[in-house]
Parts: sequence; structure tokens; C-alpha cells
Amino acid sequence: MAVQQNKVSKSRRNNRRAHDALVAGNPNECTNCGELKRPHHVCPSCGHYADREVVAMVEEVALDEDAA
Ligand SMILES: [Zn+2]
Repeated sequence: MAVQQNKVSKSRRNNRRAHDALVAGNPNECTNCGELKRPHHVCPSCGHYADREVVAMVEEVALDEDAA
């Protein structure tokens, strides 16, 4: 295992971490339903991609509570 030779100061550590912040995504509006979606991904709310439905959406799935 590599062992550091010198203590990294708080200043140097914090300067390194200055670029570690997470950045927000860049959502687009779905051309079919207007919902925000990730670019180049199938819309999660209507299943459309490039103006056609590629994933069939079901209205609602009835869960059988006794089965669990
Ligand atoms: Zn959509």
C-alpha cells in the first residue's frame, strides 16, 4: 500500500475538493407529454423516444396484498 510522505494540509485538501461538487442534470421536455426527461433517454412517464412509443405503458398495476 502506498503511504503518503507528507501530511496534506487542510488548505491543500480543501483546494483539491473545491471541484468535487455534484452538478445538476440537464433535463429536456418530452416532445410527446411535456414531462422533463433525460436527453437521449426514453421518457419515463410516457415511454416515447423520438416521437414514437418504444416502451408500452400500463395504466396501473394491481398489487395483490395477500400474495406477499
Ligand atoms: Zn413523455
